[in-house]
Amino acid sequence: MSQTSSSSTDPPAPQSSALPPSHPFNTDNSHNTTTTQAEQTSNLPILSHKVVPDRKPLLRLELRDLSSDGSFAFLRLVHASHALSHAVDTVLMHLYTGVSPSHIPGTRSVTLILREMDGVAYTTGLALDDDHKEIHFNTKYISFTPESRQKEEILGVLVHEMVHCWQHSGFGSAPVGLTEGVADWVRLKAGLAPPHWKRDSDCEWDAGYQHTGYFLEWLEKEHGEDVVRRINQALRGCKYDGDSLWQSCCGKSVEGLWAEYKKSMKEAQ
Ligand SMILES: [Zn+2]
Repeated sequence: MSQTSSSSTDPPAPQSSALPPSHPFNTDNSHNTTTTQAEQTSNLPILSHKVVPDRKPLLRLELRDLSSDGSFAFLRLVHASHALSHAVDTVLMHLYTGVSPSHIPGTRSVTLILREMDGVAYTTGLALDDDHKEIHFNTKYISFTPESRQKEEILGVLVHEMVHCWQHSGFGSAPVGLTEGVADWVRLKAGLAPPHWKRDSDCEWDAGYQHTGYFLEWLEKEHGEDVVRRINQALRGCKYDGDSLWQSCCGKSVEGLWAEYKKSMKEAQ
C-alpha cells in the first residue's frame, strides 16, 4: 500500500527509554540518595569542615580508552564522582579556610582525562577560558603502580593535580618549585604521601614537590598553621616578589628560613 503523507516517511523522533513504574523519577519525591551511598562505599578520609566556593565547579570524567589496564583499575578502585569532589573539598579546606570566598579562584569546571601519555599527570587550563581546567592522568602510570598502592596513588595524584586547579601563582610568575611544593604539601596534609617520600634538605628550598612540601610543613610549626594559606594569598592578583612575600609571611628571607630548616634537620638526626 502506497503512502502519500510526507510525515510517514520522516524518521521517528528519538524516544527516551521507558522508566520502570517504581523509578523515583516517576514520583514527585525524587530525593537523590547517591551521595550517601558513595560516602559509605568510597572509604575516603573524613574532612573536619568544608570550604564552599562562590560557584560549585562542574566535575567531569573522560576515559579515552576504557579497555586499558589503567582505566580498568581506576574504575574498579575509585568512586570517580566522590573522589573528584572530595579532592576539591580537600584542596579548598587546606588552602582557603578562613579566606573570603571572593579570594578563591573562579574555577568553573575540572575534567579528569584518563589517557595513555608520558609522565604521571599534569593540569592545564583551556586556551579560551582558563577557568576550565583539565587534569590529564596517564593510564600506563596507574597500571604500573603496584596493586597494593594503586588506590592511594590515584587519590594522591588527584589531590596534587586538583591543587593546580585552585592555587594562586602570581599570574604564573611564582617559582614552579613553590607551586609544586604547595601541591605536595596539600597531598601530605591529606594523608596521601606515598611511602618513598622523605624529608630532605640536601637541595634548594624550591626543589619542589615533597622537598618543598616538607619545608612548608616545617614553616607551619614555626610561623603558624595558616602560613601556606598566607603564601597562597600573597600570590593572588600580583606577580611573585620573593623578598616581600617571605618577609610579610614569615618575617625573614626564604634563604634564611631554608638555612634554619637545614639546621633543624641536622639537629634531629
Ligand atoms: Zn604538579
